[in-house]
Amino acid sequence: MIEPTPLNSEGDQLKNLVEHVPELIYEYITTPESAGYFTYVSEACRDIYDAEPSELINDADIVWKSIHPEDLHDFTTKFIEAIDQVKVFVWQGRLISRKDFKLKWVKLTAQPVKVDKGTVKWYGVVHDITSFKTIESELQFAKEKAEREAKAKEEFLATMSHDIRTPIGGILGMTDLMMADATDEQKEYLQLLKHAANNLNSLVNNILDFSKLNSGEMIINPARMSLSTMLDSLYQLHHFKADENRNKLIFELDESLPEDLYTDEMIITQILNNLLNNANKFTKDGEVILKLETLSRQESNLKLRISVIDSGIGIGEEDLQTIFEKFKQVGAGINHQGGTGLGLSITKQLVDLMGSKLNVSSTLGEGSCFSFELNLQVLTESKLKQLKTAKKSA
Ligand code: ADP
Repeated sequence: MIEPTPLNSEGDQLKNLVEHVPELIYEYITTPESAGYFTYVSEACRDIYDAEPSELINDADIVWKSIHPEDLHDFTTKFIEAIDQVKVFVWQGRLISRKDFKLKWVKLTAQPVKVDKGTVKWYGVVHDITSFKTIESELQFAKEKAEREAKAKEEFLATMSHDIRTPIGGILGMTDLMMADATDEQKEYLQLLKHAANNLNSLVNNILDFSKLNSGEMIINPARMSLSTMLDSLYQLHHFKADENRNKLIFELDESLPEDLYTDEMIITQILNNLLNNANKFTKDGEVILKLETLSRQESNLKLRISVIDSGIGIGEEDLQTIFEKFKQVGAGINHQGGTGLGLSITKQLVDLMGSKLNVSSTLGEGSCFSFELNLQVLTESKLKQLKTAKKSA
C-alpha cells in the first residue's frame, strides 16, 4: 500500500487551502490488483458524500454506492477508459445522498500520474454543480415554454388572419356589385367602405406575412415570371391609388429588360406593393416612380436595381435609422395615413430573403427613394431546357 503524501510544516498553508476550498480534493490510487482506494480526502467530503474523510479512506465503495443507478454505467465506462489509457478522468452525473436520499449533481475531474508498474495516483476534484444544473434545467424549461408559446401565437395569428380575410373579400366583392347601380352619394359612401375594407385587408396581410416570416415559414419558390405581366398588374393596382392623391405614376424601364425571369413573383410583387403603397400614401400632387435598371447581364445572369422613388413628405435623418424596425411609424407620417408600422419591416425581411438589402435615402419635404439590387435568372431558351431537365430528374 502506498502511503499518503505527508504534509510537512511548510505544507501547512497548502493544507489549510485544500481543507477550506468548497470542492472535494482527493488523492486516489489504482493498481493492477485493485479498483483503488483513497489516500487523501478533504473536509468537503462531508457536504458531497455525507461521510467523514476517514470513512472514505477506509471504504472507497461509499463513492460507488452513492452514484445514481442510471449514471453508474457511464461512470464505470469512463473510469475504466481513463485507467486503461492513463488519461484525465472527467465525469458529470448524479449522486444520491446517504442521509436524505436527495439528488445531487457533481462534476468529477482527476489527473493521473504514473507511479510504477501499473500503479497510478489520481489527483482529483469533486465539484457540487447542483445549483448550476437546477438553473440550466429551469432555463431549458423556460426556453421550451417560450418556444411553445411563440409557436401557438404564430398559429393563432395565421388562422385568425386567414379567417378574417375571407369575409373582407366578401365585403369588397359586394361593394363592387352595389357600386354598379348606386347614386352618386351612395357611390361616395361605398368608396369609403371599400377604402376601409382595403385597409383592413392589407393590415391582415401584413400580420400574416409577419407571422410567416417570424416562424421561418416564408421560403423562396422560384418559377417562370413574365416581367411585363407583373408590371402590368402593379400598374393597374397602383394607378388608382396614385389618382386618389393626384400623383403621377411613372414606370421607368430599361430598354434591355428581358421578358421572362425565373424568380419568386409573389415575393417581388409583395415588396413592390408595399413600397408603392407607401410612396402613394406619403405623396400628394407629386410623382411616384418605379425604376428598373440593368446593372449587368452575363448570359442568363441579370443584376437588376429596382427603385421606388417619390416626391412626398420625406423622412427625417434620425427616423431613417429606425424606419425598418417593426411597429415603427415616424415623423410626419405618424397616424395621419393609417397603417401599422409593419410594412417596411416586412419589406426589408422579404428583400433579405431574396439575398439583397433594402436601401433608403430621403430628404424631409422633398421625397424618398427605396432601392435594392437583385441577382436574377433570365429564362433564355437554353435555361428553360436546363430547368426542365433538372425538374425531370428531381
Ligand atoms: P405603415 O404601415 O405605418 O406605413 P411602414 O413600416 O410601411 O408602416 O412605414 C413606417 C413609417 O415609415 C411610416 O409610418 C412612415 O412614417 C414612414 N414611411 C414609409 N415610407 C415612406 C415614404 N415613402 N415617404 C415618407 N415616409 C415613409
